[in-house]
Amino acid sequence: MKMIDYPKSVVVEEQGLRDGLQNEAKVLPTEKKLEIIDAMIGAGVKSIQVASVVDPKIVPQMADAESLCAGLKKRDGIVYSMLVLNQKGMLRAVHAGGCHVTASISASNTHSQRNTGMTLDKARGQLAEMVAIGKKSRLTVRGGIQCAFGCRYEGHIDPNTVMDMVKEQLDLGIDEVELADTTGMADPRTIQEICGPVRNLTGDKPVYLHLHDTEGKGLANALAALQVGITHFDSAFGGMGGCPFVKGASGNIATEDLVFMLQQMGIETGIDTSKIAAISRSLEDFFKRRFSGKMHQLLNRD
Ligand code: ZN
Repeated sequence: MKMIDYPKSVVVEEQGLRDGLQNEAKVLPTEKKLEIIDAMIGAGVKSIQVASVVDPKIVPQMADAESLCAGLKKRDGIVYSMLVLNQKGMLRAVHAGGCHVTASISASNTHSQRNTGMTLDKARGQLAEMVAIGKKSRLTVRGGIQCAFGCRYEGHIDPNTVMDMVKEQLDLGIDEVELADTTGMADPRTIQEICGPVRNLTGDKPVYLHLHDTEGKGLANALAALQVGITHFDSAFGGMGGCPFVKGASGNIATEDLVFMLQQMGIETGIDTSKIAAISRSLEDFFKRRFSGKMHQLLNRD
């Protein structure tokens, strides 16, 4: 049997402050978010999604996106990013400055309408405008595709739709691609069938894979993706998170679990799992509940 070539290193983007928090009713103060960002950088995280720029009435946890951005310290080699879902969000992100952006739309027409009030066609049109605004302001723009592997409302998503959307975004001049398993419905085989061809399309441009562990397949899907050349992953401390617009969507894959597995496989991330685990435990104390990740419960407990 042929041995699989795994990458030597992988980039892990921490999205706990965005995806992890957006479902939480108790608002984490801006100061505390900035402390967590410092702690993440201390743990070796180089890429951090700090907020989504959305209507604060709908997601109060993200109301401080601009002030958080203003409080970020510029550091060599550290990339901060924000998630934007429409043109208004992109304009706010440009105005806030200092962050790269992920401009994300859904591959599911129903999810798109429920999440943003736009049909898929309209969202694709708006994405073109979002990318143009971001590029004009010299931001690094990642094009994101939500529900790329399935949708709670529509079920199966045609992989051809995903491929067409990736091609369209590459034509618009995006710098990076993100495929999101927003609902956690992906399985390792589907991951390979979609990520492999997307990887071939994008050339040097990185493809970030955003996995949720809703159905318990998160790390299996990460492993499947590694085998077809995916080297960029999103994750959240403690496995926090869920999409406020997708019923039953639970957390991201936990950063400490992903990094721990990669480390055991001899794949570098530069991230210290014990330090991430400590962040997860401090947030469990703040929110007064247990997170679904595993390693923060095991590593360096006093
Ligand atoms: Zn997510």
